[in-house]
Amino acid sequence: MNLDWDALLQDCVNFTQRLIQTPSMPFEEAQLAELIAAELQQLNFDQVWLDEIGNVNGRIRGTDPSLGALVLNTHLDHVDPGEPSLWSVPPYSGTIVEDRIVGRGACDIKGPLAVQVYSMAALLRAGLRPRRDVVFSGVVQEEIGGAGATHWVENLDYDVDLVMLGEPSDNKIALGHRGIAQMWVQFNGRSVHASVPEKGVNPNYPMAKFIQDLQAAKGELSAHELLGPTTVSPTIIEVDTKSTNVTPAWTRVCLDFRTASESHKSLQAFVRRVAGDQAVVLEDGLCSPPTPYPDSDEIIYGYYTPPSDEKVQRAKALIEQGMGHEAELGSYQFATDGRHFVPYNLTMIGYAASEESQAHVVDEYISIPKMLESLRGHVALLKNY
Ligand SMILES: [Zn+2]
Repeated sequence: MNLDWDALLQDCVNFTQRLIQTPSMPFEEAQLAELIAAELQQLNFDQVWLDEIGNVNGRIRGTDPSLGALVLNTHLDHVDPGEPSLWSVPPYSGTIVEDRIVGRGACDIKGPLAVQVYSMAALLRAGLRPRRDVVFSGVVQEEIGGAGATHWVENLDYDVDLVMLGEPSDNKIALGHRGIAQMWVQFNGRSVHASVPEKGVNPNYPMAKFIQDLQAAKGELSAHELLGPTTVSPTIIEVDTKSTNVTPAWTRVCLDFRTASESHKSLQAFVRRVAGDQAVVLEDGLCSPPTPYPDSDEIIYGYYTPPSDEKVQRAKALIEQGMGHEAELGSYQFATDGRHFVPYNLTMIGYAASEESQAHVVDEYISIPKMLESLRGHVALLKNY
């Protein structure tokens, strides 16, 4: 393949720096979308377009229009850098420190976004056409729930064979992540003046015992062979009263479960085992306004593509050919926009150069040698998938 890899990497690094230098908090992605659209135009993509919600898209055409597209998905937004003085370089500088690019979004997700764009550009530079259309899809508002991804998938007007998520995977292939289930659990008592506690029933005592017992019982929750163990975290605790001299009539806790092996029903049964009869499972903690806790046997995933899937096998072989070594199969701890594509039966894998441990941290970085390796993996995939 006739391609100057050094020049490609250099351009990709430079683009990453410009992306980092263009802040793009949720709802403020427009300027970044314009920057990306201009880059795609200048790289001679066949089609470049923005949609109503502000997502930016670019397509290069394949030789066989009967094949579904390969979609490269990343998001445009990032989390707040927080106190700038905690950073060793200004967070929106994209400074190169040794062999890393440092700045807000370097890892999650502007470095991987640049690799996706420049691996597509690489084919055009080498005068090659992929077999199928390759579409870049940069979506808004991932960090606050995924309205951009939802809009994209709801309005899809072309066939998709595979979506590659650019969320940090350390150049491994991420086959999924756990899903979220939240539940409010309430203990009822009888409220009295705090000076005569013996006349009432204070629900804070069973609540305290429940939270202790929950910690001890967490080992009863089952694990998924690839996506890992189900976890539970008590998050918000509330009582009915705002008065410091009244014992509460009720107290409730929100439990946040991350699961790939439990259903809403099995989680509810787990809570009943731990809490006994005195607890009331109230409602779904994710919903506002409150809705009843779901009564379903379906396993709760974020997304999951089994290792045996033929698309995984094909993508893995090509990525390995490009990188020159094995691409391990793994999974994400965090959730991604991939979960919004599950109801539409799209097949997803994650593949990107940056490391999950660098997402949302001060001095977030991406390794430049890993970007090169990832460019090689992407180009091999795009060319022959
Ligand atoms: Zn991300």
